[in-house]
Amino acid sequence: MSAGQRPASKFPLRLDQVKPATRSEAVPLLRPQRPLHQAAAERGRGTAPAGLGLDSHLVRERMLARLQAEGVRDARVLAAMRAVPRHSFVDTALANQAYEDTSLPIGLGQTISKPSVVARMIELMLAPQPAGTRPRLLEIGSGCGYQAAVLAQLARQVVSIERLRPLYDKARENLAPLNLGNLRLVYGDGRIGHAPNAPYDGIIAAAGGEDIPQPWVDQLAPGGRLVAPMLDARSGGQVLVVIDRHADGSLVRSLHEAVRFVPLKSGTD
Ligand code: SAH
Repeated sequence: MSAGQRPASKFPLRLDQVKPATRSEAVPLLRPQRPLHQAAAERGRGTAPAGLGLDSHLVRERMLARLQAEGVRDARVLAAMRAVPRHSFVDTALANQAYEDTSLPIGLGQTISKPSVVARMIELMLAPQPAGTRPRLLEIGSGCGYQAAVLAQLARQVVSIERLRPLYDKARENLAPLNLGNLRLVYGDGRIGHAPNAPYDGIIAAAGGEDIPQPWVDQLAPGGRLVAPMLDARSGGQVLVVIDRHADGSLVRSLHEAVRFVPLKSGTD
């Protein structure tokens, strides 16, 4: 019987008027847990059942499958994203959304970038780097530290800069358990880059301004590539800008897809 065919309920309802539900009217049983025999079978097969804790590698594997379906091909990027527990970079209340393809708030009006955007930008940045080499990388906008952790999986060395003190502290805290000896967090204005560790084979910005700051270009190694969002005066939105420094030192700039990042700001707070 569909809900529309149900007779209008009469109140007050007396218990002695309530007929036992017939089989077809019975409300389906809610099953918060799997039946024991199913759990035992899964354990026997050695697989973790779907939908369990976020620590389950299966939840992350689903994110990886989605990235591949969307066209992410670089094995270095996929392996790095497989290795980093994104859920430990967001607030506990949002952790159940950590493997969905969405950006999430990390406080102070900032966001952790969408996994598909992180993957796409890193893939673009690494494209000129031959497989098997470990590049030196610079990230502008550490935020909660997620992308920095992904970069550290595939780089010889990563420098990541954040201008907001509470987020710099949060990134430090989030990253500490991962023990990434090749990652250096810097509190400062990323618009000036980080000259002490330059030049970099790859530079990636997680915030977009009206221009590409000159120090980023100056700190790019021959053969290196910079990927950053930038305001596109024509559309009024942001686009991804790629700048390649060729082996002979010449620079080539190309514009890619439209994106939406938080603003690149000057100074520190
Ligand atoms: N990389 C993060 C995204 C953080 S959002 C991730 O893994 O998801 C972008 C960050 O850029 C914000 O935390 C913002 O404070 C920072 N930012 C903006 N302008 C900056 C600047 N000039 N220098 C350093 N960080 C900057």
